[in-house]
Amino acid sequence: MDIRFDGKTALVTGAASGIGAAIARDLAASGARVVLADLDLAKAQAMAKTIGHGALATQADVSDPDQVKAMVDFAVKETGALHLMVNNAGVGGAGEPTGNYPVDTWQKVISINLNGVFYGLRYGIPAITAAGGGAVVNIASILGSVGFATAPAYVAAKHGVVGLTKTAALDHAADKVRINAIGPGFIHTPLVDERFDQATSDYISSLHALGRMGTPEEVSSLALYLLSDQASFITGSYHLVDGGYTAR
Ligand code: NAP
Repeated sequence: MDIRFDGKTALVTGAASGIGAAIARDLAASGARVVLADLDLAKAQAMAKTIGHGALATQADVSDPDQVKAMVDFAVKETGALHLMVNNAGVGGAGEPTGNYPVDTWQKVISINLNGVFYGLRYGIPAITAAGGGAVVNIASILGSVGFATAPAYVAAKHGVVGLTKTAALDHAADKVRINAIGPGFIHTPLVDERFDQATSDYISSLHALGRMGTPEEVSSLALYLLSDQASFITGSYHLVDGGYTAR
């Protein structure tokens, strides 16, 4: 299956690292003009340079609606139109039981992992509609469908992303905008690799039926498929790429 995005602009949030960087790289290699957005402009610019293919970078904190609107405006102004969007930026947050969870961390995780996806849809969908339609992928998690002790904010945000995805897809099917969510299992990126010691990493790997964590490229393959015309009858759904984590 040859997936191509020639003539399309794709905007990826949190694109300077991990899963977002892999998706940005693969989209660019498949012909898309990619706009990488991240908190840190220098990191996003360095990644855009590595990716090549005319990739552009912009700074945006997805928890700030004004910055998300400016990010979408930048993509449209610089490339002429927006067709594809990946709401990927996210953070982990402290590991504490719900009854002891720091309120400020709750607010931070919800503001980035849930509100940030809403702002992406709120400003991205009108731009994609204006371009004649396209597709959006929201990066949720396996923790969009199952719980995980000591991660109440992350789990609540990711469950919220799955519900938001379904509703946005219903709202905008008639505008020719397909909207889906992805639920990765644990993936080797700085988000997990910098937090887990070897024993934790081995234990987390064992929770996946395939006995390992995934790679950003394995998530990117699914994202590119869902963004492509090959997935023309797929909208409003949640797709796992989890090595069998949730099959247990
Ligand atoms: P990552 O390597 O840490 O990359 C996330 C990127 O998002 C970083 O460049 C980060 O910048 C940026 N970012 C953080 N807060 C932001 C904000 N407010 N506005 C804009 N950008 C922001 O993490 P990842 O593992 O690739 O995660 C990407 C997505 O996949 C997240 O939504 C995550 O929840 C989801 N996910 C990850 C896994 C996993 O196991 N890795 C599993 C399931 C789902 P800084 O580095 O400067 O903070």
